[in-house]
Amino acid sequence: SDKVVDAVARSLQLADRARRLEVRANADTPEDAARARRFGAQGVGLCRTEHMFLGERRKLIEQMILAADDDTRERALAALLPLQRKDFVGILEAMDGLPVTIRLLDPPLHEFLPDHTELAVRIATTEAHGDLPDPHDAELLDAVNRMHEENPMLGLRGVRLGLVVPGLVAMQVRAIAEAVVERRRAGGSPKAEIMVPLVGAVEELRIEREEVERVLAEVSAESGIEVTCPVGTMIELPRAALTAGRIAGQAEFFSFGTNDLTQTTWGFSRDDVEAAFFSAYLDKGVFATSPFETIDREGVGRLVGIAVAEGRAARPDLTIGVCGEHGGDPESVHFFHAAGLDYVSCSPFRVPVARLEAGRAALPKTAASDSR
Ligand code: PEP
Ligand code: MG
Repeated sequence: SDKVVDAVARSLQLADRARRLEVRANADTPEDAARARRFGAQGVGLCRTEHMFLGERRKLIEQMILAADDDTRERALAALLPLQRKDFVGILEAMDGLPVTIRLLDPPLHEFLPDHTELAVRIATTEAHGDLPDPHDAELLDAVNRMHEENPMLGLRGVRLGLVVPGLVAMQVRAIAEAVVERRRAGGSPKAEIMVPLVGAVEELRIEREEVERVLAEVSAESGIEVTCPVGTMIELPRAALTAGRIAGQAEFFSFGTNDLTQTTWGFSRDDVEAAFFSAYLDKGVFATSPFETIDREGVGRLVGIAVAEGRAARPDLTIGVCGEHGGDPESVHFFHAAGLDYVSCSPFRVPVARLEAGRAALPKTAASDSR
């Protein structure tokens, strides 16, 4: 009823007044960004660019990664550039005036490459019928075999892909920079930020950052519009958390990827583990809630604490947020408030809950205001 709606609106107002944590949203489309804004998001904390390459565009990523020669790869990249630019223009428009953190490509390869078994079966079936297999299939199978990984989540992802595939980072950064130029020409106030995923060593970030800055300067010179974007990194590997002081030397901001950080700290596979034995672990009391849902304070949480302390010691103005699933989990929001983060970022529908909990976390600890 209207009374409930009014009460919720009042609670949110009070929470917004009290909270110190900013609340952003994870959004990969203009529609999600607009929805998040209506829920009160103060920006996009994570735009996962790999989600933009599903459907038809998957083929282009496949070509880019498997390309046997420079020409094929460059053609795929050239085809991707305008599509990416359009994606970014839409999101920057929906979030005009607010920060939009765009993460460079981070797909586990198995989600994008054609399936090895399917291809092998197709070739074998053709041969069994006494026919010659399609040469394209044979070539593809060869390329897929070369790239095959037993553990793709620990494989050629994130910054590693950016360092290994020539032209990939340049294409994405150019798309971002040209989108910023387009929005500025239209009178908007785009605030794009560029985020590098899966960094484990400061050198990875340093090399990628150089490329980012080179392309930003190029687009600035071409367009006559100065494009600068903060460059930051995900902290989602234990090694990144433990070397955060050095990494902060190359980053304007950190964003904790607590999904991967939980996976790599526990050694649990994000994709498989829950179905396999989490219910037994919950029954036996190994943990009270899944560490993928609520932040594991003793393990993952300590790494967060180390990274915040080291990062801020090295760079006092470092902006620090979280964009893993935990960013919208009430108990975890309290943890991130106490850990001194600047923002949490969660799915659009969880934004109101995150706002409320961030407000509650900031209130003085009395029995009435804090039951956690
Ligand atoms: C994470 O790892 O927590 C994260 C936000 O990135 P993704 O879920 O896309 O790996
Ligand atoms: Mg991640």
